[in-house]
Amino acid sequence: MTSQSLSGPGSSRAAPEAAASVQVLIPLPLSGPYDYAAPGPIPRGSFLAVPLGPREVLGVAWGEGSGAISSVRLKEVGGLLDEPALPEEVCEFVDWVSRWTLAAPGNVLALALRSAPIGEEARTVTRLVATGAAPGRMTPKRALVLDVARERGPLEPGALAREAGVGSGVVRGLMAEGALEAVELPAEAPFALPDPDRVAPVLSPAQAEAADELRRAVAAREFAPFLLDGVTGSGKTEVYFEAVAAALRAGRQALVLLPEIALTVQFLERFAARFGCAPAAWHSDMTSQARRHVWRSVRSGEARVVVGARSALFLPFTELGLVVVDEEHDQAFKQEEGVVYHARDMAVVRARLANAPIVLASATPSLESLFNAQSGRYRRLVLPERHADAAMPALAAIDLKKDPPERGRFLSHVLLAAVEERLRRKEQTLLFLNRRGYAPLTICRACGHRMTAPHTSSWLVEHRHTGRLVCHVSGFSMPRPKTCPACGAPDSLVPCGPGVERIAEEVAERFPQARRLVMSSDLVANAREAAAIIAAMAAGEVDILIGTQMVAKGHHFPALTLVGVVDADLGLSGGDLRAAERTFQLLNQVAGRAGRAERPGEVLLQTYAPENPVIAALVSADRARFLRAEMAEREAAGMPPYGRLAALILSSARLDALEETGRLLARAAPAHEEIRVLGPAPAPFALLRGRHRHRFLVQAGRNAPLQAYIRDWLAAVKVPSSVRLAVDIDPASFL
Ligand code: ADP
Repeated sequence: MTSQSLSGPGSSRAAPEAAASVQVLIPLPLSGPYDYAAPGPIPRGSFLAVPLGPREVLGVAWGEGSGAISSVRLKEVGGLLDEPALPEEVCEFVDWVSRWTLAAPGNVLALALRSAPIGEEARTVTRLVATGAAPGRMTPKRALVLDVARERGPLEPGALAREAGVGSGVVRGLMAEGALEAVELPAEAPFALPDPDRVAPVLSPAQAEAADELRRAVAAREFAPFLLDGVTGSGKTEVYFEAVAAALRAGRQALVLLPEIALTVQFLERFAARFGCAPAAWHSDMTSQARRHVWRSVRSGEARVVVGARSALFLPFTELGLVVVDEEHDQAFKQEEGVVYHARDMAVVRARLANAPIVLASATPSLESLFNAQSGRYRRLVLPERHADAAMPALAAIDLKKDPPERGRFLSHVLLAAVEERLRRKEQTLLFLNRRGYAPLTICRACGHRMTAPHTSSWLVEHRHTGRLVCHVSGFSMPRPKTCPACGAPDSLVPCGPGVERIAEEVAERFPQARRLVMSSDLVANAREAAAIIAAMAAGEVDILIGTQMVAKGHHFPALTLVGVVDADLGLSGGDLRAAERTFQLLNQVAGRAGRAERPGEVLLQTYAPENPVIAALVSADRARFLRAEMAEREAAGMPPYGRLAALILSSARLDALEETGRLLARAAPAHEEIRVLGPAPAPFALLRGRHRHRFLVQAGRNAPLQAYIRDWLAAVKVPSSVRLAVDIDPASFL
């Protein structure tokens, strides 16, 4: 929508007569707002049509003109759109995110205006209502149509005919005779008002105490960050629902961010059970029409509660009174493409601009949030126990050195016996392996060749259900070849290691009578399918669920009593700063699915390294010990949360240009007491989609002016157009 011309129906214009200059931010990758001449001062946030080169584009008034260019030479704004202004808080947020991430402000504005129906009328449809006038001649079919119209309310003509089971001619006849009348109504049903007092649970003392604090903070209408730190199944959701209820009672809007679409669907149902209707949802799996409806309803205040993914932060709330980030430790909150930002961190900023409390909830908070709680910046609310009498699951490691699986298999005898026991007791099992596909590596038995994507250094993952080899980094895929592309040997390619599909195959062989389902992001087409699997699992229609991290999070399966972690060591290796932290979080999360109701849960971790501190901490359920060790290591190395990082990623199809730019940048890096520049070095994925990639890592003290440093540094170097430069502040991924 950013580049379309603005001659739509909503753009009524005032004839401009230049008297002032106004800064206009255009949702395009420009260096900053542009000055335009205007007939008079224009309030910030107003939507405008402005000339840009040969086109007329949408812009937003961003402030008074800078006065840098004489107003005589300025182009004039094309006209003011008949639209409510973008709320000031959103304008400030756009500026803030842009300053923090070093992304062009226009790119950040584009995030806020994606799916914004600016200059568009709300879509309407024609529906029919019974007027009460009798038709000239009444027939049984006509009577039926009128009954349906009266009982079901306004329906579209086709729907009315269908519901009444008559042809469209009958409906047309009634219209012609004035018994039915056409009315234009909004296409989307308005959002219902959630009822804060519908069915609140009786809270445990610990829950009640936490909920009280949150309620008070909502009522105070002040910025207040909370870390809601409670074991899995302790009722964190119930507690922050009370804060949502308080926001609703106070006439404020609330925003809940979740890391996964799959979680959203279950959340909607749970929300509806508590508040009587579903909240507005916001995620990528919605039609653009539905998103426009949400955008408009958030701005008008009709949508009171929004549950959504990262970009919901940019919605035009006018009465935001509470922000919740559930599973706050989740890496999915980091947006890695386009404007690179961490939604958890930006949510804190969004709440501050709204003078609202924010709740970061997790059973395994990020070290960053724990650090902020320890230093007193965040208030920590602790829920130490599971709800009711549900016990925490018993954890044990299976040492694969002592109890190895059979050759070519991946499930040990101990784990298999535990699964069998569950089948006998009619309880459920979850087998967890955080790896999509059938096998992570395909290798030639004859020559040792490893299958990689062309122009990419990562392995191809076999997906047996599609018969293809897929690169999970670049998206490249190809049919599984019959012969080795390196040596030409026929039928020599063999899969190495397991993905969930391979585990599913093994389970099918071992337990052919069991009801099995596999869940991973590439086997599940959309949010609805994911919801169906989760519902089937929750209803006890599945004996063994095999899944990736998609199943690890948040779900509540009462009959699930065994969680088997196929490869607990996966993720522990690799040079990633947060490898240990993430493994701990993920395994703790998946373990938390077991025994959430009356029946106790058991978690078995298959590992070759039972003595590893992460595995040992998990098995002894000693989170504090793990955190102490991990924090000490980070502190010693000056790594987050004790220090800060930024990454610069250079990429180019031309290696010589890339290396030259790297040298230039390295030489230009300013000296600073508290800031160190490491690199350039080839990135772990040194070649991606035919582009070479090099990285700089900038390491800074906690209070060092990291952004200003990078801004000054980059301003001093001219990067050639053949090289792309991306800045990642607080990187979560080191690839
Ligand atoms: P968490 O978000 O901490 O994992 P949940 O809020 O999902 O925990 O709670 C786990 C289960 O216990 C849910 O089914 C929830 O409805 C139930 N539960 C928690 N607290 C209460 C309560 N006070 N009364 C009734 N049910 C509760």
